[in-house]
Amino acid sequence: SRFAGGAAWIEGEYVPASEARISIFDTGFGHSDLTYTVAHVWHGNIFRLGDHLDRLLDGARKLRLPSPLTKEELASIAKRCVALSQLRESYVNITLTRGFGARKGEKDLSKLTTQVYVYAIPYLWAFPPHEQIFGTSAIVPRHVRRAGRNTIDPTVKNYQWGDLTAASFEAKDRGVRTAILLDADGCVAEGPGFNVVIVKDGRLVSPSRNALPGITRRTVFEIAKAMGIDADLRDVTSQELYDADELIAVTTAGGVTPITSLDGAPVADGTPGSVTVALRDRFWALMDEPSPLVEAIDY
Ligand code: PMP
Repeated sequence: SRFAGGAAWIEGEYVPASEARISIFDTGFGHSDLTYTVAHVWHGNIFRLGDHLDRLLDGARKLRLPSPLTKEELASIAKRCVALSQLRESYVNITLTRGFGARKGEKDLSKLTTQVYVYAIPYLWAFPPHEQIFGTSAIVPRHVRRAGRNTIDPTVKNYQWGDLTAASFEAKDRGVRTAILLDADGCVAEGPGFNVVIVKDGRLVSPSRNALPGITRRTVFEIAKAMGIDADLRDVTSQELYDADELIAVTTAGGVTPITSLDGAPVADGTPGSVTVALRDRFWALMDEPSPLVEAIDY
C-alpha cells in the first residue's frame, strides 16, 4: 500500500509518512515550541496510549498550548495511522506545536494556531537491541546539566535547550552509547531519551525531580511492586549511581536496558543483573497479555 513504511496525519489528512511536510513558519520548528509523546505498538497491540495522551495533554496545558483535538480524537488518529501502515511493531509519535499564524513569522502568541502531527513508523530502538541483552554503556557528562523545572520544565516532553543533545554528543566523543545527566544540584536527573532506575539491596529507586515522568518507568515500578520489590521515587545522588547493584535505562523506544558500564568502569560485576533481567522479560510479556494497558489495533 502507499502507507508501507509509515503513515502520518497532518492538516486533517492521512498521508504516507515520507510525504508529510510541515511549514518553515511553524514555531515548533523555529522556536522549539512544542511537546510530544511516543507510544509504541508491539505484536499489533498499542501500549498505554491513554497514559501517553494524558501526559501529552498535561504538558500542553503547562505550555499553554491548547489542543484542538480531544484525547479520544488523538487516540483514534494514532491508531488509524498504525492500521494504515499495517505495522505490527511501531513507533507512534503525537506532536503538538504552537503552529503559525495567518501572517508569515507572526510573533503574537495569541494569533498562532496549534498544529497536530501524528505518525506511525517502524519501531525504533534507542539502543541497539543486543544491548538490551548484554548491556549498554554510559557516562555522566562533565559539564552539561539537565535543565531544572524553573527553566525548562522536564515534565513537558521536548528537547528545547539542547542539554540532552549535548550529553549525547559527549557520550559519542567519549566512546560510549549514552549519558546520565545530573541536575544543577548534582542529583541524578535522566538520560537523553530514558529514565534511570537504580537497583540497590533488592529495591528500586529513581529520581523524583528533573526527569520526565516516563510511562516505561511507571510500568517497571508496577511490575516490581507486583513481584514484591519496593520501588521509590526520591532525590538520588550521583554517588548512588556508582554504588548501584544494577543500573537500568527505561524508555518506550528501548524497553528495559541494563547499563553495565559507567564512566568506563563496570557497574557491579559488569553483567546484566537478575532484577533487570526479570523486569525486562515481564515488561515485554505485558505486551501480549490482555489488560487495560494494552489495546489491539484494528488493522
Ligand atoms: N526521559 C526523556 C528525556 C525521554 O525523551 C524519554 C522517552 N520518551 C523518557 C524519559 C522515557 O519516557 P517513556 O518511558 O514515557 O518513553
